[in-house]
Parts: sequence; C-alpha cells; structure tokens
Amino acid sequence: MNEKKDRSKLVFGAIIVVLCVFFVVGVVYGANSLLEMEGTLEPADKYVLDGYAAVPDSPQGVIELVNTAVSNAVEAKPKLESSDSISIGDELTIGEDGASAVNTVAKFLKDNAADEFAASFVDLSADFGVGFTDKLWIPQLNAADIESFEIKYIYYHCMQCGADSDEEYEKCSECGNENGPQMRYRDDYSITINLVQGAPALENNFRLREPAQVNEFIGDKFASFANVSAPINFEYKNARIFVRINRHTGQLLEIKYIKDVDVTTKAEFIGDYAYVGEADVYLPVNEEVGFRFTWPGVSLSAHELSMDYKTTEALKATLTCDDPLLYDVTWTSSDESIATVDADGYVNSNKADGKVIITASYEFQGKTYTDECEVFVKTSVESIDITKRDLVLAKGETFEQTVSYSPKDSTVQTAKWYTTDESVATVDENGVITAVGAGTADVYAVADDGYFKATCKVEVTE
Ligand SMILES: [Zn+2]
Repeated sequence: MNEKKDRSKLVFGAIIVVLCVFFVVGVVYGANSLLEMEGTLEPADKYVLDGYAAVPDSPQGVIELVNTAVSNAVEAKPKLESSDSISIGDELTIGEDGASAVNTVAKFLKDNAADEFAASFVDLSADFGVGFTDKLWIPQLNAADIESFEIKYIYYHCMQCGADSDEEYEKCSECGNENGPQMRYRDDYSITINLVQGAPALENNFRLREPAQVNEFIGDKFASFANVSAPINFEYKNARIFVRINRHTGQLLEIKYIKDVDVTTKAEFIGDYAYVGEADVYLPVNEEVGFRFTWPGVSLSAHELSMDYKTTEALKATLTCDDPLLYDVTWTSSDESIATVDADGYVNSNKADGKVIITASYEFQGKTYTDECEVFVKTSVESIDITKRDLVLAKGETFEQTVSYSPKDSTVQTAKWYTTDESVATVDENGVITAVGAGTADVYAVADDGYFKATCKVEVTE
C-alpha cells in the first residue's frame, strides 16, 4: 500500500479548501504568512507535465502533433462548430485626412461591411457522431511553410488572490502579492503556427474569401457614393494557424485560421461626395475562421475528496452529449468496505482508513465514458501542539521539537517546518532547530492534514 503517495495527494487536494477557509478567516488568524508559504509548494500532481504528450521542439514535431490530433478527431467524430469573424481595422483611410464626409463613409464601411460579409459565411458545423468530411478545413502543413511557432502551456498562479497570468511576474498586478507566482501547467497546448508569406499552405488552408468575392462586395458597398473602377489589390499577410490540443488526451479542441489582408484601391466619389474626387482607399481586414470541437464525456465535480468516518459527500456528474438528461449514470466504488456510492452519486464513508476510487460512467453512441474520484477516508487532525512555544538558545545550540496531534489516532500525522529568519534559527524536516545568529525568529510547524499551525518564539543569544 502506497500510503505516502496517498497522503501527499490528500494534502494537495486539501489546499484549495484550506485557502478558501483562510480567505474568510485570514485576517483574524493572521494567515498571511501561511499563504506566502503555500506559494513555495511544488505544483500538484495534476499540473506536472511528465507522462503526457511531449512538447514539440521542431516544425516537424508540431506538424506530427497537429496531424495526429486532427486524424483522431476525424475518426472519433466529436461535435464540430464553425465560426467566422471579420473585422476592419481603425487604420482604414480614404484619401487625405480631415475630410469629414469621407470619414462618414469610412465609418459606414467599418460598422457594416464586416458584419455583412461575415453573415455570408457558410456554416460548417456537424453534430456528435456525424463526422465532418467536406466541412473541417484540415491543416496541410509542410515544415518549409512554417516560419515560426509558439506553444503555450505554462501559466503563473497568484497564491494570494488566485489570479492567473501567462507571464511570470515579481509582483501580482491584481493584489500586489510580492512573493511571486506559482508556475503551473495548463491542460491544453495552445499552438500558434506562423506561416511563411506565400507558402502553398496559404492557398490550401486559407480559403477565407476569394478576391473576386471581396471585389464584388466592395463595389456594392461603394456604389451609392463612389465608383471603384481601379483594380482592387489584396496583400495577404500574417497567415497563422492556431491549434488547441488537450495534452492529457491528445483531443483536438480548436483550430483557427487567421490572416490579415490589406485591401487597397482607388475610388471616384460621386453625388454628395463628388467634391472629394478620386481618393486612395485602404482597408485593413482581419479574418478568423474557427472550428471548435466538443468531445463526449463525463466529468465529476471533484476528482479528490477526503472524508472522515461515517460521513456523506455528494458527487455531481456532468455529461457532455446531446440531451444529457436522457442518459443514466452508473456509479461504482472500488472498495465498499471503505466507502459506498448510491445511484445519485452520494458517497458514504465507513469506519476504515484507506483510499477508494468512485467511478461514474455512461454510454453514448455505443461507447462508454468514465470519470473517477479518489476518496480518502481518514480521521482528520483537529489541532496540533509542539514541545516548546518559547526557546532561548545560545549560538550553535540545537533543540528538537516534536509535533503532537489531536485526536491521537488521526490518520495523517506529518507536518512541515518553517522559520521566519534563517540568519537567526534554521529548522530541518524533523523539527530540529539550530541557533545560527543573535536575534529572534518564529519557527513553526504546519500540519499536512488541515494546515494547523504551531509557532515557537526562538531567541538566540551570542
Ligand atoms: Zn494576486
């Protein structure tokens, strides 16, 4: 029985609960130092990268990761939703600056053109299990077409206010915490692939709008105030593909085709605007065609729980499929002597220490989907004490503290030791305090179960 590992998992599972409690009572109990300490803990198991899809470090590696995810999706037929968004940038110009009538035209174009154009996008959605032959635009990538790529999967979590940031920082911009963030791993790889200008993939992958369509569209839009007889020029640039893949399962979650188009032409203004004469027109256009994938599955409201003897906790199963209410969830326990689960997901613990796996499953379109929750049944720590609360030590002297737990039969009887000033006193993992230099410091223990804290004031004399 791998008790140590179980215990460490149990502890990580308790962190969030403990933090919530401390946000409420933090001021009363002076929990700030404890929160700071939390920021130095290692990431919980589930954030660690080992064992999941490796991070590609070459264009070929990126292509393989994307191609595998795409072909798996084509075969598994998750639900597909498509979208198209077009925007015209603020840099839009018509002729010289300052002609207010022309600015009105520019605003009209900016406000109406993009929406109207996007409305003509042909929907490429497909329901669960239907498949998307002829719908999904499949990336056709060659290493030579990739100018650069970026893969994001790390983020930084403030242990004080909970804010997440993609960038590492010294001081949290939300709450001012100066203890630095905790590095964590996202569940997804967010991959941006920048394509070489003029790459063949541009032709294959970016069938966003044909120049002829744009041509006709601009002609129509200008018809009431200008003639566009000059050629309309399109400069395609910054073509990129954004792909999001779940790094645990390899499931494809999103593909976006993004490009910028600089449209330039000349227009001969007519009617009320005739005084403008001929003017250069510049329309900066950005277009994104997106595909989102929804995979069938079941997700439990908790994946780790700790319970005392003879208590009840409710687990909720969320199904992803059409009409989730039509499906029955089957609940099972891996060891009913430790905990049982009923047909509604209520977990009841018995009177035995140990770990049990609660599984929820359901069937959808001929496949069984499952999710698990690890439940630890134990006697919880309610308070801790240490041998001495005050110590006066001469430089070089040592003293060994021992932690006592209440109740005496509590299951997890381990704690971690900290000092507020290592230049005064250090403490090792066994609670042995060493006097280092003259001054005072707090040396304290924090129980792994429940995070109860016991402090000893240490005074070191020369
Ligand atoms: Zn913060």
